[in-house]
Amino acid sequence: MTKRLSRNMVAAYLREIGIDYVLVPARRGAEAANPPAWEGEETLEDIRNEVVACRRCPLCSGRTNVVFGVGNPRARLMFVGEGPGAEEDRQGEPFVGAAGRLLTKWIERIGIARQDVYIANIVKCRPPGNRAPLPEEAAACLPYLRRQIRAIRPEIICTLGAVALNHLLGNNDRITRARGNWRDLDGIPVLPTYHPAYILRNATREHEVVADFDLLAQRLRSG
Ligand code: SF4
Repeated sequence: MTKRLSRNMVAAYLREIGIDYVLVPARRGAEAANPPAWEGEETLEDIRNEVVACRRCPLCSGRTNVVFGVGNPRARLMFVGEGPGAEEDRQGEPFVGAAGRLLTKWIERIGIARQDVYIANIVKCRPPGNRAPLPEEAAACLPYLRRQIRAIRPEIICTLGAVALNHLLGNNDRITRARGNWRDLDGIPVLPTYHPAYILRNATREHEVVADFDLLAQRLRSG
C-alpha cells in the first residue's frame, strides 16, 4: 500500500540525503484559484480585463499577447521582472524558457511550488529586440503592477535584475550593490537579486542568488 508523504516528511528526507531544501509554509486560503478581493480592493481579474485592451504606450503595437502575470492570487512571495521576451510574448506568460526554468529551480529549492508564488513584470508588452523598457513605457505600465501588488498583498517582493529594482523602487541603485539587501515598498519588504537571464550568462554568480533565496525563505518562515 502506498502512503502519501507530507511536505514536512519530504523536506526532512531531502535534508537528510544532503539536499539543501527549506520548507516554507503556504498562506492560509492560498489554494483558492480565484479568491474574493481583499476588502475594498479590486481582484486581479478586474485588473487583467483592463490590461488586455491597454494602448497606453507604444509597446502595444508590437505585442502578440499581453503578459499580465501568473501565479497564486494570495501568494506570500511575489517576483517582479523587467518585461516579456519573445517566448513570453508568444505564450502570454512571464518567465518561460531557459530563464524561467532557472527561476523555477530557485523557487522550488526553498520549498515552494512555482504556482504558489506570483510572477509579474514592470511592463506587460514586449519591448522590441528584448531591449529594456524606456522610462516612459515603464511609467505608463507601473500603475498596473502597483494595483496587482495591492490585490495580492504579498508579504515579500523579490525584484529580478536592475530594471525591476530601479523602476519599482524609483531609484538608480546598482544591482551588484543592492542585491541581498532588504528595501521597503509601502511597508512591504523588497529583496533585490539578479535576473535569471543574467545568471545564465554569468553562472559563477548563482551562489549569490542562492544566498538571496535563503533570505527570502528565512523571512517567510518567520512571518
Ligand atoms: S506595456 Fe503596459 S502601458 Fe504599455 S501598452 Fe502594454 S499594458 Fe499598456
